[in-house]
Amino acid sequence: MVQVEIIRVGALSTNCYVVYSDGSAGCVLIDPGGEAELISEFMERQELTPERIISTHAHADHTGAVAPLVTRYQCKFGLGAADAVAAGNQSEWLIDMLGDFEEPPPPSAKYFGGETLQCDGFEINVLATPGHTPGSISLLIDDLVFTGDSLFRESIGRFDLPGGSQEQELSSIHTMLLTLADETVVFPGHGPSTTIGHERFANPYLQ
Ligand SMILES: [Zn+2]
Repeated sequence: MVQVEIIRVGALSTNCYVVYSDGSAGCVLIDPGGEAELISEFMERQELTPERIISTHAHADHTGAVAPLVTRYQCKFGLGAADAVAAGNQSEWLIDMLGDFEEPPPPSAKYFGGETLQCDGFEINVLATPGHTPGSISLLIDDLVFTGDSLFRESIGRFDLPGGSQEQELSSIHTMLLTLADETVVFPGHGPSTTIGHERFANPYLQ
């Protein structure tokens, strides 16, 4: 059974997710946007070691603690291919607001969507969901989907930031996310969790 721990980090309260399988020592970290110490404390308490870190997109509030965690655990770092350059070129105002941002290393894996990643006790299917950024990805693990800033509970991500596209974002949500089963649990980059079924009828941006 896959377990999900939500650690809210940084000035924008980014949801950093620690995903691991019962009884396994390896875990995957999704969107460590800041507060590396807080994230490490949880993993040490649970005796977990990250095998890889994945950021759903390049924005600084989703990548700010990648560098110290990669250094500490010597793990892989994956990101959507089209966001790889932007990760090292984030806006100063956002970096200043976050406070503890460290520029991430170049990704060791660049995803295009369609990849299956083998982890300790589970696998991850990478879904290309561009729109919020050109390289935004969502991560499907069994009946859980981690949507970054593409899909929120009853809202969707901004598409007015550099590289964003409203048309692309809506298309990604409709073709890659709303096609999942109703009971699929959605873990967004900010705010509360939801389900695909709830968003299908209650999300005002998707009607
Ligand atoms: Zn974002």
